[in-house]
Amino acid sequence: MAEPEKKTCHKTTRRENFRVVVEPDCGTGSEESYCRDIKTEIGRHVDYVKFASVEYDTLEVCSFCGRAWEPAKDEEGPHCSGCGADIKEEPPND
Ligand SMILES: [Zn+2]
Repeated sequence: MAEPEKKTCHKTTRRENFRVVVEPDCGTGSEESYCRDIKTEIGRHVDYVKFASVEYDTLEVCSFCGRAWEPAKDEEGPHCSGCGADIKEEPPND
C-alpha cells in the first residue's frame, strides 16, 4: 500500500487591498486643496471607483521653522532646538 502523499508548503505572497495612489502635482499651491479637487474630479469622471479619500500624515513641527518638533530648555526657558524660537502656548486649533 502506497504512503499517502504528504502535504508540503512554502512561503509565498498574496496581493490584496488593491488601490490606486495619486500624488498631486501642485507646484506652489496647497497639497491639501489639490488633493480635495482631484478627489472631486474622480467622483465626477471615473467609473469603477467604490471609494476615494484624501489621506495624510500628521507631523509635529515648529510653527516658525517647520522642522520636527524638538523642544529644548535652557536658563531662558523652553525653545525650538531647530531655530531657537521661544516656545509659547499653542494657539487654539482652527
Ligand atoms: Zn523652530
